[in-house]
Amino acid sequence: MPIEFSADPAPLAHLRCPTCFYETQGDRVLQTGGARKPNVVPELASWRVFYGALSGQTGPVAGPCPACQLPLVHLNSHAPSQIWAIALPEGELTPGSPTIAPQGVLPLEQANLWMETRFGDTPVYGRSSPLGALWFIYLLVPAFLWVCAATFLLFLLFVAIGAHFLGDVIDFPFRAMVALTLTGVVFTLFQATRRR
Ligand SMILES: [Zn+2]
Repeated sequence: MPIEFSADPAPLAHLRCPTCFYETQGDRVLQTGGARKPNVVPELASWRVFYGALSGQTGPVAGPCPACQLPLVHLNSHAPSQIWAIALPEGELTPGSPTIAPQGVLPLEQANLWMETRFGDTPVYGRSSPLGALWFIYLLVPAFLWVCAATFLLFLLFVAIGAHFLGDVIDFPFRAMVALTLTGVVFTLFQATRRR
């Protein structure tokens, strides 16, 4: 009995994410992707994929990438692109020829120029991000340590001079304060150097 082949085998959809390199063919995942992050804000990274597809530089957009949610392109299809709106601070932008931008309807090339100008210089991690705030705190830790060390030395100097003249009277508070300060400095050092 001859092996039956399908008369018209549909080509397996070959998809790739230009951003994180997730790649799939039919049901097989060729590259899991997901790790590579765009070097521009996601709004512009999404736009660049849509623009590449709409201007014919790549295959059509097939949908959002399962690994990074940015648009995924077909490598072996000429079907029309799947389009969805990109949320911008100004409002939604729907890629296309023409593109429906928050400020009105723009030809594709003009929309590309606007998006590149608008988001090309936007830092990927803005100062308002939690990461930025954390970095600022980490920068403050050495400054705080310096202040602690200087205060401790001044205190020692002061108490040493005082102890010389007052003898036993200052002895107990001196030891208590030294113990407290040392505990504080050790704790600060531990906080500053532990794994983050
Ligand atoms: Zn991706």
